[in-house]
Amino acid sequence: MLPARVCSQQGRPGRAALKFRGQKPMEKRVDNWPEQLRDLWSGEIEWNSPLARWCTLQVGGPARAIATPASREELQSLLAVLARLGVCWRVIGRGSNLLVSDAGYEGVIVMLGRKFAAIAQRAGGKAGEARVQVEAGCSLMKLVRWCAAQGLQGLEFAAGIPGSVGGAVVMNAGAWGKEMSEPLSAVTFLRGSGEFVEREKGGLAFSYRHLETEGMIVVAAEFLLQAGDRQAIDIRCGQLMRDRKEKQPQGLANAGSFFKNPPGSPAAGKLIQDAGLKGVRVGGAQVSEVHANFLVNTGSATAQDFLDLMRVVQEKVFERFGVRLEPEVHLL
Ligand SMILES: Cc1cc2nc3c(=O)[nH]c(=O)nc-3n(C[C@H](O)[C@H](O)[C@H](O)COP(=O)(O)OP(=O)(O)OC[C@H]3O[C@@H](n4cnc5c(N)ncnc54)[C@H](O)[C@@H]3O)c2cc1C
Repeated sequence: MLPARVCSQQGRPGRAALKFRGQKPMEKRVDNWPEQLRDLWSGEIEWNSPLARWCTLQVGGPARAIATPASREELQSLLAVLARLGVCWRVIGRGSNLLVSDAGYEGVIVMLGRKFAAIAQRAGGKAGEARVQVEAGCSLMKLVRWCAAQGLQGLEFAAGIPGSVGGAVVMNAGAWGKEMSEPLSAVTFLRGSGEFVEREKGGLAFSYRHLETEGMIVVAAEFLLQAGDRQAIDIRCGQLMRDRKEKQPQGLANAGSFFKNPPGSPAAGKLIQDAGLKGVRVGGAQVSEVHANFLVNTGSATAQDFLDLMRVVQEKVFERFGVRLEPEVHLL
């Protein structure tokens, strides 16, 4: 029998996170929790699944279990069972902003995937406007394409940002001077205690690449979009995607911008480049030659390589410019 272990529930990394977050005591975990989880929850579970497969950096050890609820009810019942068994969990989207430890995750990864991905236009609203509600597991690109096909504008800036709608809302993902908080009008959350809560935009605390979720799961988001010309929206999205291709490394696994742009100073990529770090490697992790704020996996990187390279970059940039770079990527 496995010894009972203690672990932490989902939370976000601290501001100066330099280490994978440790496990803090939560409550006693039931010894044979995997068997009990199998008996008590009928949704889809994959056991001992390498998280490298689910993250765009393609590093990270196995999760003890990956649970993929297909509906709000399944998600609710999963959380109730996990609380009862004292098992730690963390929700992820498409893993495009995650650095997962080589040790993996000794708990349950809750993945809101393609089965949790409905898009629907809500009734009401002013002429020329549309309210669109989307479930968190929908891919952001699918939403952008759907809006373009309906002739709805306001999300074109997100064309080419990988990941799920839930991840994009939590990250307040942005590009070209715009971010998710702008077209967003409301978010539906699920609390750990099992209730759904809808918050209007005014009640949400967004900041640069961050939404304060208070540890809740984003289950759906609502956007307020404007009627526009389908062809013009398509052209704009296509242009932004081409611009991305030109500026970002292609063909090597990465998680987009690794560091946040520090307030009041040049962009992180410029600082890293000017510190002479383009091309610098630790093991299989490398500062991209194309865009210095992208750390890429040259093929054989481990999570530790990325963590070590992150520290090298932070130290050198601090030595040279006195600026502390904070990771945008979340550590798990
Ligand atoms: C090539 C490339 C380009 C990129 N370009 C951009 C860009 O232009 N702008 C930008 O902002 N980002 C960019 N990114 C980063 C990334 O795509 C975004 O941050 C994206 O929004 C993350 O979504 P995700 O579903 O993959 O989230 P994940 O990486 O799976 O998760 C990110 C965080 O959100 C939490 N989370 C995820 N879903 C939920 C949920 N439903 N409820 C509660 N918490 C949740 C996770 O626990 C984790 O802490 C890029 C990444 C890549 C690989």
